[in-house]
Amino acid sequence: MKIIMLGAPGAGKGTQAKKIADQYQIPHISTGDIFRANIREKTPLGMEAKSYMDKGELVPDELTVKILLDRVSNEDCKNGYVLDGYPRTIPQAEVLDRAVGELNERIDFAVNVDVPDENIIKRMSGRRACTKCGDTYHIEYMPPKKENVCDKCGSPLIIRDDDKPETVKNRLSVYHEQTAPLIDYYEKKGILKTVDGTKDVNEVFADIKNILES
Ligand code: ADP
Ligand code: AMP
Repeated sequence: MKIIMLGAPGAGKGTQAKKIADQYQIPHISTGDIFRANIREKTPLGMEAKSYMDKGELVPDELTVKILLDRVSNEDCKNGYVLDGYPRTIPQAEVLDRAVGELNERIDFAVNVDVPDENIIKRMSGRRACTKCGDTYHIEYMPPKKENVCDKCGSPLIIRDDDKPETVKNRLSVYHEQTAPLIDYYEKKGILKTVDGTKDVNEVFADIKNILES
């Protein structure tokens, strides 16, 4: 099963993608996580990506497409994957379609996690991310068992550099300009499924499961 998660930054794509990956035993691929791992390791790709991410801009397609194509050609992707944060532009979607088409395969579902802008700022300001494994929490909605410590690996939690309110505003406008057109793109392909992302995490997941299993 090949699944794409769509939605504004902070809509809950990563939260739901992790649950889908666990449930269906397919890899969760987040281009944002790949960039952040490169930033931590101070690779040239990481340094270049950081200059865009810190401003809330998209990393250019040339860089992003290459890392995504490399990742989905891995052996562990042969039974499918859930993409979180890719595609974010129409050209990125077209590249993915071509790559999947060359294997005589297709994307099965584009799940759009719908959350209005008004809710996003609160989601992002309360988000905390693990410095080591990237696991995500929310101080109010999904708090870790111990304050500021990752449940999974015990490392400290931080506020992501790009979750500051000014950057979030820019990320939202970039989303509406460059990424939201993908909703129409996948609607036309007949694979768009929209869920109400304002519900509780487990309710959203139940809705997604219904879609994937119907
Ligand atoms: P995205 O991957 O779309 O940027 P995340 O999955 O990281 O978003 O979620 C953003 C923040 O909102 C996180 O702090 C997460 O814990 C929280 N969150 C995710 N889904 C929900 C939900 N359904 N209700 C409340 N908070 C949520
Ligand atoms: P995310 O973790 O998905 O919220 O992504 C964090 C940041 O990484 C984004 O704001 C972009 O700067 C960059 N990024 C992640 N995925 C992509 C992508 N597919 N295209 C361009 N930039 C991306």
